[in-house]
Amino acid sequence: MSISRRSLLKASVATAVGLSSMGLISTVQAAAGKKVVVIGGGVGGATAAKYLKMFDKSIEVTLIESNKDYFTCFMSNEVLEGTRSMDSIKFGYKGLEAHGVKVVFDTVTEVDAAGQSVKTKGGQSFGYDRCIVSPGVEFKYDAIAGYSEEVAKTIPHAWKAGPQTELLRKQLTEMKDGGTVVIIAPPDPFRCPPGPYERASLISAYLKAHQPKAKVVLLDPKEKFSKQGLFTDGWKRHYGFGSEGAMLTWIGGDKGGKVSKIDPATKTVTYEGGTIQADVLNVIPPQVAGKIASVAGLTDEKGWCPVDHKTFESKLKKNIYVIGDAAAVAPLPKSGYAANSEAKVCAAAIYSSLNDKPMVEPSWINTCYSVIAPNDGISVANVYALKDGKIISVENSGGVSSKHDPEMSKREVLYAHSWFENITADIFK
Ligand code: FAD
Repeated sequence: MSISRRSLLKASVATAVGLSSMGLISTVQAAAGKKVVVIGGGVGGATAAKYLKMFDKSIEVTLIESNKDYFTCFMSNEVLEGTRSMDSIKFGYKGLEAHGVKVVFDTVTEVDAAGQSVKTKGGQSFGYDRCIVSPGVEFKYDAIAGYSEEVAKTIPHAWKAGPQTELLRKQLTEMKDGGTVVIIAPPDPFRCPPGPYERASLISAYLKAHQPKAKVVLLDPKEKFSKQGLFTDGWKRHYGFGSEGAMLTWIGGDKGGKVSKIDPATKTVTYEGGTIQADVLNVIPPQVAGKIASVAGLTDEKGWCPVDHKTFESKLKKNIYVIGDAAAVAPLPKSGYAANSEAKVCAAAIYSSLNDKPMVEPSWINTCYSVIAPNDGISVANVYALKDGKIISVENSGGVSSKHDPEMSKREVLYAHSWFENITADIFK
């Protein structure tokens, strides 16, 4: 493999050692009475809340989350494929409560940065010494004429897992024989760079097994995408990509793949290269930071949140930290693994600032697995470090899977499933 798994492992172990050698893992009752409010109980928020409690039990940590159940986006494409249940991607908050996190189910509607408090839709108000914001992404529905939040109730994005995933799955299973699925991919930057391509793969896998005459057309404003060579090789192996009568077609930006409008009534899509009528239409709109981030004045003109790369404290509002997809921290990708890694660094930064201790030298890790077909997986992995105050990708710390080898590709799927078990335990248990 071109990936150096050993160097990746070494670096991730170094991060863990850094945290424990600083005394972060062992409990010190130092910041007694200090309050941290976490907005959003997804990957970033839940991890940060749990790790803050693990670092210092005396900090009062309140996590405010809109929904009682969290459905992971990761592995939701396998739900679309029909090889995984919704229940298997559903998680609750009992584990966090057992760590001492106070969990409140409500939606934050206001953040008063000067007064250091937040207000919720349910009329509650919470004061804080530090606030962590991890709201994920918001969709720019109006970027594609004809699409809207209302239309998404029948033409799903399924880019936040849950009822949207179920709706798209249902439409796939009910599609007429030989029908066409059209997927509209978003422009950069967006949540989960390999996600639309894994989705096209696994929808094709389902159709190949159940409706072999069906077609999948992926319309994309971009000319390039994550792990492109590995995806297209896999598509050739499984779905006839590039050949006449291929099940799966990708139309990139240079071939007119940018979509300007959809007609929800007929599911007709107008793109630069022509028009196409879909039987099942999946629109993944352009994205910005979750709504509360802009309401709180944490976003820049591009709609994402500029933060200090070492601590994740907002560059716009003091004592507020932004992590996960909402934060502008490239080259870290907008992925769950990165959000989990950012959350630990952010928790360490808050622990240090509340206890008047120096902050550890942070590092981050990310691996994104993608399943192309049953027993055929690929991945991209990297370790990140801080250089001159900026996050950088550490040279030779990772890379993408090497050329297809059936045994390795099978193992990548096993690694993906084992990563899922490990990370969800790390976040929620
Ligand atoms: P989220 O996990 O979305 O959490 C945000 C939470 O905040 C939500 O629970 C929401 O309800 C809550 N919230 C928002 N606003 C408020 C408010 N005002 N008040 C209260 N609560 C609020 N990543 C990987 O690493 N590996 C993968 O294989 C992978 N696969 C993916 C596949 C798909 C199809 C998709 C769409 C994504 C995938 N991802 C993957 C990306 C991953 O899911 C996200 O990067 C990750 O969830 C980001 O975490 P977050 O905390 O920023 O946001």
